[in-house]
Amino acid sequence: MRRRGGIELATRHLAQGAGREAQGTGKGPRRRWKIESIRLVTQVFGLVLGNGMLIGLPLFGTSNVLRHIYFPNASTKFFINAPTYATFYKVQDTVYSAWNSMYIDLLLPLLIFVVLTILLGRAWCAWLCPLGLPQDLLTRLRRRLGIRHLEIAPHHADLIHSLKYLGVFVIVFYTFALGAPGFNLKAMWNALPVPYEQFDPNRAMYVYAQMAVGLAPTSTYVPTMSVLIALLFFGTSFAARRFWCHICPQGAMMAPLNHVALVKLRKDPGKCTHCRICYRVCPMEILKVYEERRGREVTSDKCVHCYHCVDNCPEDGCLSVEFLGKRLLGSRYRCQCDEGGSGV
Ligand code: SF4
Ligand code: SF4
Ligand code: SF4
Repeated sequence: MRRRGGIELATRHLAQGAGREAQGTGKGPRRRWKIESIRLVTQVFGLVLGNGMLIGLPLFGTSNVLRHIYFPNASTKFFINAPTYATFYKVQDTVYSAWNSMYIDLLLPLLIFVVLTILLGRAWCAWLCPLGLPQDLLTRLRRRLGIRHLEIAPHHADLIHSLKYLGVFVIVFYTFALGAPGFNLKAMWNALPVPYEQFDPNRAMYVYAQMAVGLAPTSTYVPTMSVLIALLFFGTSFAARRFWCHICPQGAMMAPLNHVALVKLRKDPGKCTHCRICYRVCPMEILKVYEERRGREVTSDKCVHCYHCVDNCPEDGCLSVEFLGKRLLGSRYRCQCDEGGSGV
């Protein structure tokens, strides 16, 4: 009922906006470019440079320094000459083998992870993750085909979000138990060594892509489980916006730090007309931006910093992005929102 009211309000608001534009009484200049377009360029650049896939980037791939800088996003070791891996991979790998060193080996990767996440928050997700790009491309395809996305109710999204912390705990504890004396799980190392790597959709997706362009030998082993997970990834990402990001353990690692990151999503509640567009376009089904009535801080742990809400908020300066207190981007008056809740 509440949702229906919001949609009606949004529709009314759009109609008012169209009227304003027709009369030439818009509140401010419309932005000629969309943040979404710039983000797409960054994602492609990040995929090529950050993971060395398309051109091999042999220098990056052999640099010992870069090999020790683990990205907070789902960068993957399955790229030929990948300069770096995801922190979640490193954590699993090190928890297993670091028993003897009292886990000192984990300190540096975790420190790098914390620094990088505090610097950019979960912008790593929307702007640089190799799993974010295919999800966004599938969303664009679905939009082109005129198919409406499958909605995840906010309370379900919240529940899934909480459950993924449990997933991270189980995976890390299992890997710890593999290596720690007393658990007698050493025999499992051959069967299921770094568990998430068996489920990572990156594996089948990018290994086959590299085979196709001749970067990986056609004999490269890809487990059946990875192929099945990749197919599931494509199906769910086509149907629902950023579905994998709702369950991704790497995202769960970053989520608590999103609140203390230097990059912030801000709202000026005085300019908000409660049109609900920010909620409708949010791929992570976040209500906080719409619901906040008093405070300026609207960054939530689920927010992947795609700024689709900023792109589509029709009120001048109502939503903005700040880095270290400096305003980088802001919403501009718009006469219409693309698709009823398109997401990224
Ligand atoms: S939450 Fe999504 S964008 Fe972020 S690391 Fe996971 S797959 Fe990548
Ligand atoms: S923040 Fe912007 S998009 Fe969201 S409800 Fe307010 S006016 Fe609408
Ligand atoms: S709240 Fe805004 S920036 Fe964050 S995920 Fe949703 S649309 Fe993207």
